[in-house]
Amino acid sequence: QQKQQEFVLRTLEERDIRFVRLWFTDVLGFLKQVAVAPAELEAAFSEGIGFDGSAIEGFARVYESDMLAKPDPSTFQILPWRSASPGAARIFCDILMPDGTPSYADPRYVLKRALARASELGFTFYCHPEIEFFLFEKQPGPGEKPVPIDPGGYFDYTPHRIAHDFRRQAITMLEAMGISVEFSHHEGAPGQQEIDLRYADALTTADNIMTFRLVMKEVALEQGVYASFMPKPFTEHPGSGMHTHVSLFEGDRNAFYEPGAEYQLSKVARSFIAGLLRHAGEITAVTNQWVNSYKRLLGGGEAPAYICWGHNNRSALVRVPMYKPQKGQSTRVEIRSLDSACNPYLAFAVILAAGLKGVEEGYELPPGAEDDVWSLTDAERRALGIEPLPQNLNEAIKLMERSELVAETLGEHVFDFFLRNKRAEWEEYRRQVTAFERDRYLPVL
Ligand code: GLU
Ligand code: MG
Ligand code: MG
Repeated sequence: QQKQQEFVLRTLEERDIRFVRLWFTDVLGFLKQVAVAPAELEAAFSEGIGFDGSAIEGFARVYESDMLAKPDPSTFQILPWRSASPGAARIFCDILMPDGTPSYADPRYVLKRALARASELGFTFYCHPEIEFFLFEKQPGPGEKPVPIDPGGYFDYTPHRIAHDFRRQAITMLEAMGISVEFSHHEGAPGQQEIDLRYADALTTADNIMTFRLVMKEVALEQGVYASFMPKPFTEHPGSGMHTHVSLFEGDRNAFYEPGAEYQLSKVARSFIAGLLRHAGEITAVTNQWVNSYKRLLGGGEAPAYICWGHNNRSALVRVPMYKPQKGQSTRVEIRSLDSACNPYLAFAVILAAGLKGVEEGYELPPGAEDDVWSLTDAERRALGIEPLPQNLNEAIKLMERSELVAETLGEHVFDFFLRNKRAEWEEYRRQVTAFERDRYLPVL
């Protein structure tokens, strides 16, 4: 820590950095920042920078609004999209109460707490997200339908200049910030892109996702287009998921890997998947937190709507990827429910908690589903014991309300705030009379 702090302070001077942006994330997953002069940073490292927490979504009740942002020097990065001199840099912060204890409302702390639980059991948690999003001609005004920048589809090499230049520039910028990209391509819908990050420990990955979203917005702005992580902007096209590949390591060893076992899945992996399935309903409000998220889950297009696992089955909630079977260290499972608009800290925390519960209690893995579960009838699915995921935000809230696992993982404050906020969102949505209704009913009623 001391060494990292010194490195940061030295770099600020050497690179003529005049602004340091302190970043943190609110409960709904929006990035917040306070900019400080480099001279303030030394004090920030030791004591933190004070700010009014009550102004931040989900952070504090008004009578305890004083909070401190304490930079984590290991996350220091120079921002590549600002001019070289004087430059700007960012550091992620932990949020503390005035007495120096971690804030119960800080999503980064929620994840750290979940990771500490895993570490007590001897595990490190790794994640690798596939992030999908749309590029539109411009930010649509109220009531306007967004216009995708191209008509391309899956893996298309579009003649359209922007998508290509965009991915190249975006990836260059991510790499300049120390975020490795594994893979990128055009996704299934017009204007839809996917960029996959290299796997890293869950905290780094969550920080990287926050950075990723901002970088995409910045690059889009520079190229005169608009990037959106909305889960399902179109009725007629697939939405944007954030499928996440996860694994547990014990030291250098992948704890999901067992040579010779079915799909090379160890007992730990099998009970982890069983945990994900058994607790899938109650964690969905966190992994899919918006009214719109459920339009994606129910919209087909390789988004999961049913609670099952499968080997290479793209309609399953949890998929065990088929490729690279000889490489034991890369054994992992892909969770397909998450969307690109979740709070990654909270989503990874509840996923880890669900999986670990399965490991700790030794849950049995039910048989996998090798059929396309979309094409089965309700009765067939029931016979196979396959339940649907929550069908809308309201159902997801109802399941979360009763979840001890989620309450424990998020902590009482975040749990209560989150539910209150989501109930309000649902109530507001439910009252809307929509264009669909007017178009359908006015001509005939
Ligand atoms: N866009 C799809 C989703 O919403 C996923 C497509 C894919 O398999 O990558 O989950
Ligand atoms: Mg994809
Ligand atoms: Mg995938």
